[in-house]
Amino acid sequence: MELGGLQRVPRIEDGTVMATVDTFSSIVTNVHTALKHQGETKAHKQIQLTCSNTPMSVVKEVVSKCVRCAEKAKKKCVRGVVVRPISVSELNDSGQVDLIDSKTLPDE
Ligand SMILES: [Zn+2]
Repeated sequence: MELGGLQRVPRIEDGTVMATVDTFSSIVTNVHTALKHQGETKAHKQIQLTCSNTPMSVVKEVVSKCVRCAEKAKKKCVRGVVVRPISVSELNDSGQVDLIDSKTLPDE
């Protein structure tokens, strides 16, 4: 099995491999991108299937530095905010207002 550019031999008991510290971030980045930027828990679970020794702290670090995830979070915050109010002065200039009050008119 090849992982992080290196050939690795899987363990007999569960088929997982041990990754080295310097390959953690590249493995996490690959899995995170392959999972279409889902949360850190899902990424960690997926990584555990192949590399049993990757810590959650590395996954959290990589996901927090991910540019696309930061953009996604930003978009969620902006939603629902009025960016620019209507500032046209002649909007209601030619409008007519009907001033007849039907309640004060005599019955027919
Ligand atoms: Zn991401």
